[in-house]
Order: sequence, then C-alpha cells, then structure tokens
Amino acid sequence: MPSADVTTIFYGPIINPISLTSYSALPRCLLAVDALGNVDWIVEDVAPYELQSTLAAKGKPDANVVDLKDGEFIIPGFIDTHTHAPQVPNMGTGGQYQLLDWLQTLTFPMEAKFEDIKFARSTYASVVKRTVNAGTTTCCYYGTLHLEATKILADIVHSLGQRAFVGKCNMNRESPSYYVEPSVDSSVNATRDLIAHIRALSQSSAAADQEPLVQPIITPRFAISCTDDLLMELGSLVSEDPSLRIQTHISENLSEIDFTLSLFPSASTYAGVYDSFGLLRSNTILAHAVHLSEDEIDLIKARGSGISHCPTSNFNLSSGVAPIGHYLDKGLKVGLGTDVAGGFNISILNAIQNASVAAKVCSFQARDSSTLQPAQQEFANKALSIPTLLYLATAGGAAVCGLENQVGSFAPGKSFDALLVSVREEAGNGGLWGLAGSLSSDVSEDERKKLLEGWLERFLFCGDDRNISRVYVQGRFIGGKAFRS
Ligand SMILES: [Zn+2]
Repeated sequence: MPSADVTTIFYGPIINPISLTSYSALPRCLLAVDALGNVDWIVEDVAPYELQSTLAAKGKPDANVVDLKDGEFIIPGFIDTHTHAPQVPNMGTGGQYQLLDWLQTLTFPMEAKFEDIKFARSTYASVVKRTVNAGTTTCCYYGTLHLEATKILADIVHSLGQRAFVGKCNMNRESPSYYVEPSVDSSVNATRDLIAHIRALSQSSAAADQEPLVQPIITPRFAISCTDDLLMELGSLVSEDPSLRIQTHISENLSEIDFTLSLFPSASTYAGVYDSFGLLRSNTILAHAVHLSEDEIDLIKARGSGISHCPTSNFNLSSGVAPIGHYLDKGLKVGLGTDVAGGFNISILNAIQNASVAAKVCSFQARDSSTLQPAQQEFANKALSIPTLLYLATAGGAAVCGLENQVGSFAPGKSFDALLVSVREEAGNGGLWGLAGSLSSDVSEDERKKLLEGWLERFLFCGDDRNISRVYVQGRFIGGKAFRS
C-alpha cells in the first residue's frame, strides 16, 4: 500500500520522551506528518547541507518545510488526565476550604448552573478553547450530572478538534437536593445516551485503526455520591463494553476517606470499594491518590489502573502530598491532572511545576523523619527530574488513558499531537528572557543538545500559553498563539 502523501515536514529542534528517566533532545530533526495526521518518518540529525538530499531520499525533494527558528522547538502535546470543565468559572477561589466543604459551598452551586444549556454552551466553548491554547492536546473532562450540557461539551470538543474523554457525573446521593440524580435508572440511562451521542459524533472522522478523537468515559463522581446499586450498574456497563474508560476520585482527603468507609462498611479500603463493583480496571483513571495504603497500591497495580497526580489541587485544598515517587517505584502508571477548580490553573505546565515542588516536599519529609528508607528506590522521596516531569505530562498520561500506542511521544504511525513552543523574546512572556545561543552557529552536537535542554527546562518552569505558538492534534493545527492572531 502506498504511504499517504506527506502534508507537513518540520525541520528543527524536537524533544521526544523515551522513558521516566530519559528523553531525546534532537536539535536538527526532520519529522514528516502524513495526510492522516500521523508521524510518517523521522530523521534525527540532519545538518543544513544534508537537508535537500535527505528530502530527495525520502521522495519529497520539493516538499514545503516548516523551518523552526532559534528558540522554537516541538514537543508532544500535554495530556490532562483529570479536570472538571464546569468548574473553570470557579478557578482561583475557595482555597480556604477542604474538599467536602468546598464541594458544598462552591462546586455544587456552580455545577448546578449547567442545567441552563445556553450557559453551558457559552461556558464550555470558552473552557475548551482555553484548554487547547494551554497546550492540552488530550483532556479527560468531567462534565456535570446534566446529559444535555455534557453532550454540548462533547460537541464543542469535537468541533474544536481536541482529543478527549468526556463524562457525565453519576451522583445519586450525598449531594444537595438541587443537584442530585433522582434514581439509578435515570443516571444509567443518561450515561448510555451520552455514550451513544459521543460515539455517533466520531464515527465519520476516525481512521479505521485508530481510536476516535472524542470518546465517552464512565464518571462515577466518587464513591460517596453513588449508591451500591448505581456502582453495580456502572460495573455492568463496563463489563459489557470493556473499551469504556472509567474516571473517578480516590483518597484525596482524610475526611472523605472516613466518610467513604462509613458508607461502605463491607469494604476494608477505598480502592476496595471500586474493586468490589468491577470498577478498578486497566483503563480506570484514579485522581489524587494522596493517602493510599500499601494494600491499595498493590491492588491498583494488580488491576493495572492509572493514577492522575493533581498536585496543585492537593496543595490548594490542603489535601496532602501524594507520594508519586513511591508509586513510580511500585510500577504504577502515573499522569498529571490539573483538577480545575481544586487546582487553580488549566495548564499542565502548572501541574508540572507543582509536581516538582510536591516531590521535593516528600524528600524534605523523608530527610526530616527518622524512618529508614528502603534501599532500592529510584524515585521515592527524591526530586523528580526534568525527564520524569516531561514523561508524566506526556507519555505517562497517555498510558493512564490507554493511548500509549497513539500519543505521548513521536514515532512513525503515532498521531502527531504536538506543540510548537517558542521561548523567543517576541513571545512576550516576561518570565522567560535572556535565552542566549543559537543552534545554527558553529557549535558541537553536545552544545546544541545542552542549549535545547535549557530551553525545555525554562519553558516547563517559566512558560505559559504565550510560549505555545501552535497546537496540533492528529496533525491538524487547532490552537495556540499563532492560531489566535
Ligand atoms: Zn476532581
């Protein structure tokens, strides 16, 4: 079969995550994207004088090449494994509360407003655009409990071209009377309706061997807000259709854990509650996981579920510090989540920064405690390196979403979900300045790599949406600063 026509070829610096401990910094990379939006081929080191001969060898002597400037580079798009689209209007408020009071005081009143579909349409249009422009190419969205509003969220995501999982909250108890589902049947029927709606959206657009861009996800809000009957029905739904992902919260806050165990007296642990209803699966995304016991960690590992690390939210709602290094040592899948509006920033860059701080807090606690640390630990109680932080934000998140073969890094056949980053002065970010050096000058390969690694680190810690020039999902240019201007 002939390969699809190449539509775009990029020439310049590319950052490609490899593992939790390494990434490739490729200052002079040539990467081709085919007509379907997949990476067609990559040549890792092409000197300027080799450019024409390399293109000719690839059968593309006259291709239009996007030549990156000094201070520009390409990285895989960010993956937000946990956020709440309807809470974005609350962002930056409520830091004086802890989880259960915060839900009652701020969150449920805001989410209830999405019964009004006009409000939902205008709010979600803005939320999804902002999320794309922040560099999130794949997003796991919670909606509200409302079917119509959540359909609108999925429609907007679909029309803007973002890759996403969209779920309607299941919640039929322990919620205010103005914001609760009336029965198990109504909750499950609305969930089935949403699944059918989202699957119909994507039917025409997905290539045969790839998953659709927008997919439904089963979303029991958390165990507290679902009766046994409801969790059982959701368990049946995913066992009928194992491709359905599940997202929920786990062990975020100590009062939440106590309340959960009081509502499920036969379960010995929080993770055990979900497991008893068949909801702990290899495609389950568990947000927070701040206070897991060793038994729960082993259970989650055995089931293959993933953790969404939401450090900004964990700090902001005073929930605690998740021991992510320990989870990585145990072999759990981990990605990053913004958890807006527990978190106060829609950007995964902010989650990266707070994940770094959280790991350092763990390291201080270990240093200051007299507890003996196990010898064979690679990540626990240590700072997270740049390669680890980058991996969690990209390939790690992809694995948590069950999309590791499709996104999260660049390889032939994978989707081109990518960000063109600019750390140039003209990006207008006052926090990122004084980046000297040029890849085009006559320097060694080693110096070029060091320069590029420096650009990446500065971007991860000081960058924002002004530095994200172009956002691509499945090869399509859908957002970023250049899209807006
Ligand atoms: Zn959440």
